[in-house]
Amino acid sequence: MRLGCHLSIAGGLSRALQRAQGLGCQSLQIFVQNPRAWKGRQVPEAEIEAFIALRRQTGINPLVVHLSYLPNLAASEALLSQRSRHRLRQELALAARLEADFLVCHPGHASVNDTGVQQVAATVAAVVSQIPPPPLLLLENTAGQGQELGWHISQLDQIIKLSGVPVGLCLDTAHAFAAGYDLRHQVGIDRLLTEIAQGPGLTAIRVIHLNDSRVPLGSRRDRHWHLGQGEIGLVGLRQFLSQADLRPQALILETPKKQPEDDLRNLAIARLLLRRPQGLISSLAQT
Ligand SMILES: [Zn+2]
Ligand SMILES: [Zn+2]
Repeated sequence: MRLGCHLSIAGGLSRALQRAQGLGCQSLQIFVQNPRAWKGRQVPEAEIEAFIALRRQTGINPLVVHLSYLPNLAASEALLSQRSRHRLRQELALAARLEADFLVCHPGHASVNDTGVQQVAATVAAVVSQIPPPPLLLLENTAGQGQELGWHISQLDQIIKLSGVPVGLCLDTAHAFAAGYDLRHQVGIDRLLTEIAQGPGLTAIRVIHLNDSRVPLGSRRDRHWHLGQGEIGLVGLRQFLSQADLRPQALILETPKKQPEDDLRNLAIARLLLRRPQGLISSLAQT
């Protein structure tokens, strides 16, 4: 499991790699466009080549791209649906040119679950069949805020099956907790992992977003918080990460960045959480 952060591309794509290197990250997640604007930036070829070359030097792997916020893959309204599909296609193509491993996207919002699920599956199928993996598209579980789809694993499973194209999962701990999966206790972890095992399968989980939750269990709100300072807490996060069946390629932090030291501190906590007790004992024995 390689550890990384979601980092800014402000100043150019390569800046994110430099930031990742500065923080000692092994993996990295970025947006490839301004996540809050429909108007995309034309990324110059030289910037892409520089990014690929610097990534080779840094050894950052895997590279995860997160789809921007505006597309709604479940949109039923024709214009929004068309724009969303176009944007997903553009970002997936750009992620492919950047040699990204994964593109993470949220399923979207819909007033009627069934039609929403069908819509997402059709959108994903249309785009992935034009731009085959890599990068592999990963659907992320959500907190289920408002009309958000994908808070229940069965919805993600339906989308993946209906799409008929290769799609994996990105599992966000804060979202799962807010959606009602109690990661503080083995019984809650078991419920989540059993649902995934019976649906897309545990190997579908390629990336974990490791976040604490600022809001309580089942509150259906999306509020990420610093590791150990939220409602899941250190004991819950450690318990979750110790599951032998969980073998994602990357663990990405999307914790708040109010102070410059926030990322460094959360990464240090994540490293401690990942240390197995035996590792702790043997490192003590060596001193
Ligand atoms: Zn996330
Ligand atoms: Zn979130």
